[in-house]
Amino acid sequence: MCNNCNPRFMAFMRAYGGRRDTLRRIGAGMLFTGLPGLSGVGALAQAAPATPAAAAAGPADTIFLARRFHTMSARRQQAQALAVRGGRIAAVGSRTEVMGLKGSGTQVIDLGDLTVLPGFVDPHMHSNFCGLRPWLDVGPFTTRDMEEARRKIAQAAGAARAGEWVSAKMLDPSLMPGKPLTRRDLDAIAPQVPVFVLESNGHVAYVNSKAIELAKVTKDTPDPPQARFGRDADGELNGRLDEPPAFNPFVSALPKPSPSEFVGFLRADLDDAVARGCTALHDCGIGGLYAEGDIALIEAAMKTDPGVRYAGMLVSTHMKKWREMGLRPGELSPRFTLNGIKAWSDGSNQGGTGYQRQPYLGGSNRGALNYKPEEIEQVVREAHGEGWQLGIHANGDAAIDVTLDAFERGTRGAGGHKLRHRIEHCSILHDEQIARMKKLGISPSFLIGHVHFWGRAFRDRLLGPARANRLDPCHSALKGGLRISLHSDYNVTPIDPLRCVQNAVLRDMREGGGVLNPTERITPMQALRAVTIDAAWQCHLDHLCGSLEPGKAADLVVLEKDPLTVAPDAIQSIKIHSTWLDGRQRHAG
Ligand SMILES: [Zn+2]
Ligand SMILES: [Zn+2]
Repeated sequence: MCNNCNPRFMAFMRAYGGRRDTLRRIGAGMLFTGLPGLSGVGALAQAAPATPAAAAAGPADTIFLARRFHTMSARRQQAQALAVRGGRIAAVGSRTEVMGLKGSGTQVIDLGDLTVLPGFVDPHMHSNFCGLRPWLDVGPFTTRDMEEARRKIAQAAGAARAGEWVSAKMLDPSLMPGKPLTRRDLDAIAPQVPVFVLESNGHVAYVNSKAIELAKVTKDTPDPPQARFGRDADGELNGRLDEPPAFNPFVSALPKPSPSEFVGFLRADLDDAVARGCTALHDCGIGGLYAEGDIALIEAAMKTDPGVRYAGMLVSTHMKKWREMGLRPGELSPRFTLNGIKAWSDGSNQGGTGYQRQPYLGGSNRGALNYKPEEIEQVVREAHGEGWQLGIHANGDAAIDVTLDAFERGTRGAGGHKLRHRIEHCSILHDEQIARMKKLGISPSFLIGHVHFWGRAFRDRLLGPARANRLDPCHSALKGGLRISLHSDYNVTPIDPLRCVQNAVLRDMREGGGVLNPTERITPMQALRAVTIDAAWQCHLDHLCGSLEPGKAADLVVLEKDPLTVAPDAIQSIKIHSTWLDGRQRHAG
């Protein structure tokens, strides 16, 4: 899906946030919290990156004991103890080996029967939608069907105070059984309170009469260009809004979050990720919403000391601005790193805009490229030439072809080995493309939730079984010698690495209908690598985290059960006991 690649949806988000105004206000918010203003961002980029402090010799600050540590390191895969000094791992090994570092001041934490892994890394998520955090979630991850969505909206309307709106998000009628929403039934459940319900694809919204009144839209209001106010047979508005320009009168009437609220929303998103065991996140669309304002927002949130590292890619559409600001790959501020440049070659397969070699089922539509092939090549040439990693979103198999051509030509055969170029989602992927990727040194990051949540739609309604079988082919990619990672693309699916692991291991489909190509299943260990060391490698963070090895940061997730020994369908529900960053506990389950 990736709302980030839907420019109209981003226009809606900007309108909701107050456009450029929010950028200024967040900049001001940074000054308020003592950070440099936006003009300081470029200067920060030149600051020397913080080098890992070599752990001084001497006794450990903390020693963790547990039944099992899965280190994700080739050198020593399992251990029973781990020592931390100055936030770094000082030793990992058997109890006897590690207890040698115990001094009089060492705290020993005995985790008993629990399992310890490196903190999880979500290699592709987005901060851009944190403004929607307080909106009511009526989407398929939290809501069974359209009836339950109606009940949630009714409950929120009942609890709303005078002047408040009920704003709801993530509705997905393609995945949620039941009748579509109408103005009439929203009026029945919310006669007094204005209601605005947004579909997860960002293309459609629903409103009730009170919202229509406040937005000052009537049956005589003409449709905005390339958008429609839905109407019934006699021309009266039916409450459906098609395409973001039709949302604008409503968005103008909606209360807007303040800059400090924006920072708080992002911080709360980060806290949720820590609660799911993440200690590193990689944002694949920095700048997509408020250009440099996105950087300011992330820096302001990181200044509040969340329990997670943050890294990411800047959108290619503002390349000129990033140059003017003097931004370079590397650490921008403590625990916030810029790695790469992000571009979008096509749209979404479930939206019918992913670019395919053959048409979607039942028609001649093949989807579309967002740019001409030579424009994508140009992005690759420039970013690669300036030393940036590239992450190119490509969902359809034809988009992957074009992306590989762009990498081949734009890097003059040098490929991505050093910069670790990636294809994002890389959804419908064939064996000969895997071979090309291997040759070019390019790796895929899979939105594995596509298989579980949309697999049935791909197989039965959109692409047919042969192509749907090529969706997120983790096993083939590994067999072809690629390092893979698994991501949420939050807010497309929730940040939850254990759920990603389970989806890759099982490939079951939420709508039923069995398993989507069992030959592409991978083992729990392979899937865990894709949310720890291999994800860290793709995010240029593996010198610091992703495995439990001396010298790396003591970023740990402690699990109540061992994902390598529980039944595969129980992996997702393993309780997170605690999450630790630099040896400090940042979440307790
Ligand atoms: Zn994305
Ligand atoms: Zn994407």
